[in-house]
Amino acid sequence: MQEVVWGSRFRVHHRVVDTSRAGRILLAGDAAHVHSPAGGQGMNTGIQDAMVLAEALATTCTSLKLLACVPAFRRRLAWRLSGLVYR
Ligand SMILES: Cc1cc2nc3c(=O)[nH]c(=O)nc-3n(C[C@H](O)[C@H](O)[C@H](O)COP(=O)(O)OP(=O)(O)OC[C@H]3O[C@@H](n4cnc5c(N)ncnc54)[C@H](O)[C@@H]3O)c2cc1C
Repeated sequence: MQEVVWGSRFRVHHRVVDTSRAGRILLAGDAAHVHSPAGGQGMNTGIQDAMVLAEALATTCTSLKLLACVPAFRRRLAWRLSGLVYR
């Protein structure tokens, strides 16, 4: 077969963000870094980003779980979450 049935174009970019976090927004995958598909690793590195981020968030949550045993912390957290601290 010599006829092209389907095709698409893409440009090869090599880009990396300066920072992968902007406030509460975290970047991962192609949003954080793109490179040539020649190595076939773009999706893999994006998945690795997500795994590392998930581990970091899980660790942080486990610290919060311990802190939640402290009544003063629980009280302050409840106030902050309620939004009543912003008047
Ligand atoms: C030709 C080619 C071959 C490749 N081969 C491989 C390979 O063999 N192995 C490999 O590991 N990687 C490969 N890659 C790279 C891989 O495809 C990408 O790295 C991967 O798909 C990136 O996933 P992502 O979720 O970060 O981004 P994307 O897959 O780009 O997903 C982003 C999504 O966000 C959506 N979106 C964008 N803007 C908005 C908006 N404002 N609001 C809502 N949604 C929005 C888009 O529509 C898209 O669905 C290849 C890439 C190309 C181009």
